[in-house]
Amino acid sequence: MVIGAGMGGISAAIHLQSLGFSVTVLDMADGPGGKARAVTSDAGPVDTGPTVLTLRGVADHLFALCGTRTEDEVDLIPLPRLARHFWPDGSRLDLFSDRDQTTDAIAAFAGPRAADAFRRFDRMTAALYDTFEAPMMLSARPDPRAVARAALAAPQTWGALLPGMTLDRLLRFYFRDPRLVQLFARYATYVGGRPAQSPAVLALVWQAEARGVWAVRQGLHGLAAALARVAEARGVAFRYGITARRILRQGGHVTGVELAGGATLPCAACVFAGDPGALRGNLLGDAARDAIPASKTPPSLSAWVWAFAAQPKGVDLAHHNVFFTADPAAEFGPIGRGQMPEAPTLYVCAQDRELGTPVPTTERFEIIMNGPANSAPSPTEEPACRTRTFPTLARMGLTFAPDPDLAALTTPAMLAARYPGSQGAIYGASPEGALSAFRRPLARTTLPGLYLAGGGAHPGAGVPMAMLSGQHAAKALAEDRISAPTSPPAAMPGGMSTASLTTGRAPSR
Ligand SMILES: Cc1cc2nc3c(=O)[nH]c(=O)nc-3n(C[C@H](O)[C@H](O)[C@H](O)COP(=O)(O)OP(=O)(O)OC[C@H]3O[C@@H](n4cnc5c(N)ncnc54)[C@H](O)[C@@H]3O)c2cc1C
Repeated sequence: MVIGAGMGGISAAIHLQSLGFSVTVLDMADGPGGKARAVTSDAGPVDTGPTVLTLRGVADHLFALCGTRTEDEVDLIPLPRLARHFWPDGSRLDLFSDRDQTTDAIAAFAGPRAADAFRRFDRMTAALYDTFEAPMMLSARPDPRAVARAALAAPQTWGALLPGMTLDRLLRFYFRDPRLVQLFARYATYVGGRPAQSPAVLALVWQAEARGVWAVRQGLHGLAAALARVAEARGVAFRYGITARRILRQGGHVTGVELAGGATLPCAACVFAGDPGALRGNLLGDAARDAIPASKTPPSLSAWVWAFAAQPKGVDLAHHNVFFTADPAAEFGPIGRGQMPEAPTLYVCAQDRELGTPVPTTERFEIIMNGPANSAPSPTEEPACRTRTFPTLARMGLTFAPDPDLAALTTPAMLAARYPGSQGAIYGASPEGALSAFRRPLARTTLPGLYLAGGGAHPGAGVPMAMLSGQHAAKALAEDRISAPTSPPAAMPGGMSTASLTTGRAPSR
């Protein structure tokens, strides 16, 4: 039984099915995807969750396990332009998947010394990524000694691993131009941290992006739906609109799941792929609460998210756009105090752009303002969010006709209600603090038969990491119940491949 049809749960189900298990996935929502969700609009479904697909090799692997190929199920479009960045002083910078193009763009933007600094930063982050991929991301149980050994062998990474080195500080060693510090510091927020509090090792998030970003014509929710569809075709059962209320234990082992309404579904093992905070918060019963260690780590960032259709005016938008605040302190200071940013940085996804097809007159947009996790709704936050979003964009030249109404807004409190135990955090526990990566709960819990997957578990948040967590959960379950499968395992692809699981399809460096 898998509880949760988000990216982690679907991945766990696909891996388990391919190992010969009989799998049922439950979700309280009315369809697959979890945070990869869409809302309806006049221009079609608009993503209201993730929009940036990186490390596509992980998704490719899941489709391959289902006997198909990503490109046969969804339309993935590589984006040569990673993102377009705007500052209030009118300056603008595009980053590209092609390093030389990015280096030239940075040289034109901030001069040749900045371009040299970028080259050094890019090389260092590539070393960080390569150093941490196997012992951290791909390992089910990261061993600090193995990580330390890998880091010792890569002297380029040492600066980022110095005690107390934050991402913000590290970037100041590389870049003199504060706009470049601000730009590359933004990558901490992509896993839910504030740059000045997050460890410098998060600079490797840049590499995840630099190795390729794909747009999905059907939306990221469409990617989840396609994975669920192919999993179902291979025999995984999906049941929606069903809330798991208690994980049942008998004789010291998981025996089933009690549903809201009182019915019980027996199972030999269970992967919980919701937020681990739900277990700790006793939302799945005593047996599950005691199965993972207590956590003192605060939640990661949340967000106010607008999803709507409109006609944009005034700015030449790319697919991914970031409108930076003039003063990062006016963004992250209030967030640190649990408040909405006074002067936010705004991410705008123009979902119909750069897909290789004509852009419709009315386009679909997702706008994200990062904020603190918070489960308590406030009557003033929605109008405040509106006045901090649209006038800010208008001052930078971007307007929409019409401006969306408040029904287009998802608040942190709404996210908290939709994803139980999350407190509205969208990336699980905070990545801030030197050892946060080692504090995430692992796939195997202390309750035999209960496993964890999803962005709140190791190796962390974001679509590819949540998918990898599903692989870790399935592997742990299979190791523990090695004699359980009654049907022969399906053939698995990739036996001879030596390509990286995460970046197998990335352009060659
Ligand atoms: C606005 C936003 C933007 C983001 N942008 C990006 C991005 O661009 N790129 C990226 O890689 N990542 C991004 N992320 C993060 C990414 O979406 C998540 O890390 C990932 O989708 C989480 O997947 P998950 O497996 O943890 O499950 P979730 O998506 O959290 O889904 C968990 C599922 O479990 C179900 N569930 C929970 N408890 C129960 C229960 N008791 N009974 C039944 N069902 C239950 C829920 O209904 C839900 O469907 C973004 C997230 C948000 C919200």
